[in-house]
Amino acid sequence: MESLWNDSDARAYGDDPLSLRVYTSRLLGRDPALVLHGGGNTSVKATATNIFGESEDLLYVKGSGWDLATIEAAGFAPVRMKTLLQLAELPSISDTDLVKMQRSAMTDPTAPDPSVEAVLHAIIPEKYVDHSHSDAVVALTNNPHGEDLVQEVYGDRVLVIPYVMPGFILARKVYEMTRDVDWSSIEGMILLNHGVFTWGDTAQESYEAMIRLVTMAEQHLEGRGSFSRIAAGKSIGDDLIGLSQIREAVSKAAGGAMIALLNSSREAVGFSLKDNLHELVSQGPLTPDHIIRTKRIPVIIGENPAEDVQHFADDYRAYYERNKSRFQGLVMLDPAPRWAVWPGHGVLTFGSSVKVASIAMDIIEHTIAAMQWTEALGGWQALPEADLFEVEYWELEQAKLKKGGKRLPLEGKVALVTGANSGIGKAAAIELGAQGGSILAIDINPACVDTFNTPSMVGVECDATKPEMVCAAVEEAIRLFGGLDILVSNAGIFPGSQRIEEMDAGMWDKTLELNLTSHQRIIQACIPFLRHGLDSSIIIIGSKNVPAPGPGQAAYSVSKAGVTQLARVAAMELAKDRIRVNVLHPNAVFDTAIWTGEVLESRAKAYGMTVDQYKRNNLLGVEITSKDVAAMVAALAGPAFGKTTGAQIPIDGGNERVI
Ligand code: ZN
Repeated sequence: MESLWNDSDARAYGDDPLSLRVYTSRLLGRDPALVLHGGGNTSVKATATNIFGESEDLLYVKGSGWDLATIEAAGFAPVRMKTLLQLAELPSISDTDLVKMQRSAMTDPTAPDPSVEAVLHAIIPEKYVDHSHSDAVVALTNNPHGEDLVQEVYGDRVLVIPYVMPGFILARKVYEMTRDVDWSSIEGMILLNHGVFTWGDTAQESYEAMIRLVTMAEQHLEGRGSFSRIAAGKSIGDDLIGLSQIREAVSKAAGGAMIALLNSSREAVGFSLKDNLHELVSQGPLTPDHIIRTKRIPVIIGENPAEDVQHFADDYRAYYERNKSRFQGLVMLDPAPRWAVWPGHGVLTFGSSVKVASIAMDIIEHTIAAMQWTEALGGWQALPEADLFEVEYWELEQAKLKKGGKRLPLEGKVALVTGANSGIGKAAAIELGAQGGSILAIDINPACVDTFNTPSMVGVECDATKPEMVCAAVEEAIRLFGGLDILVSNAGIFPGSQRIEEMDAGMWDKTLELNLTSHQRIIQACIPFLRHGLDSSIIIIGSKNVPAPGPGQAAYSVSKAGVTQLARVAAMELAKDRIRVNVLHPNAVFDTAIWTGEVLESRAKAYGMTVDQYKRNNLLGVEITSKDVAAMVAALAGPAFGKTTGAQIPIDGGNERVI
């Protein structure tokens, strides 16, 4: 591992201790082989003068919620050294009380909560302290001969700390073990099954000591371990229905919809086909704090995903029952897996959002590499389940759980929205996303790719009248998110006014092709996947013209009446699969692409009204916006309408001809 230290970059950060602390923390955070997603922590000791002119010794330590890769000065909590060193002398304290004490010793109450490792950082007398969960170091120690291997690699250059629970127990252990230690004689501490600490008088020294110790572990591992990869170009074949079934089973076990990310890289598929797969994955995570994201072990998918996930959930409950008695007042986590191995297909992770599942995937990619490294050193061996349970059910994590972040109504749900680059479609995609859904937004307008370009909101250019493009888009949604729950079939056109007598046949055909036929095609393409969705729902955007047609709009009215009839039949056909089908009939939604100011003015004039009167020309006298329709789309997709199918709901401010 190369040191990324660069003198001129360092100078650009400034020369005060905290600025350099920010710089090298980011260097650590930049390498996922050292720390992943909030893992690891760093600190610097400095003296500050308080408002009374008194000088105080402080520890600036990484605050919780900050990531080393992007940390700023504000991400370090200033804590009085005196309190931290007093805390180290206590025989015991709960981590909840520790957090309180650490907070009360901060000189800035607006700073984030100090890391629970703050006491440990304070005990180490050197100015800078760096802590990582280096893959190579952890791989070395997750082994039946871990301690011997550490001895072989480092000799007496490091202090070896046996595994104990991170937090106060670890700080206390180190405090006891180091009372007579000459800190200047050792370069770092290896925490078995956990990670590595280094220190130094300068930011560079501490950081480079980390790189040095990690490199020694890497050199020991180099050339060992055989990584399973499938041959390049070997197709594994897509089983998108299988993927939807796995997601369905996991979501049901979790008690709410989950996103499923499939990694079918050569490495992931190779790993999934290993002979000793079961033995490897049935032990535990790379480092204990990963358990919060990945649970202890994955589910291995066989012939029947629903049964496999059920077995996993039963085993999880048994694991909980076996271990809970040592603690009081625990709340059991949902028993669903957070990752899966699908032999021949790769590995999967699950989460309530793409972000959560992606974090788990990053961790799993590092985990499976480390498992294969360690195999070559005599076998992979994680911590016993009792130790892992203690971290999984750590009091601070339980406290978060009890406080209970409420799930958004559509969290974990997957929606496909057509005609999504403008008007009602765009508003619907945005609203479904705001309510927690992951969205594939399709539109004939290629700008859609830029309109929706986040990991959970993806735009795809697609002509809804081209069946092969539609099928590809539906499959893309499954590949990206693992399944499909909601179809908002919205794409449509509103042609210019033409009486039947003078109608242009091309216009008639085009209107029916997009407003009617394309809806049948996309519904057809989605059904096999919606069958494995969670409270699956199809929402068709109809029109007030269905119950109240107008002259000059035969093609439009017929197409919308046709799509409404299609929805009614679909509601009957799909009820047995628990797929709901409902229709919205909006009217006079003027904030869409077709209604330019000019068009509005001429229409209003034709009725002898002002534009404002024309916009509010309904019983309630209200203007209807695409946002209003979008809110109704989200409601129809959500639990309030969970027992409604075959409904036609107007959103028109009240219309005498409809009522
Ligand atoms: Zn750690």
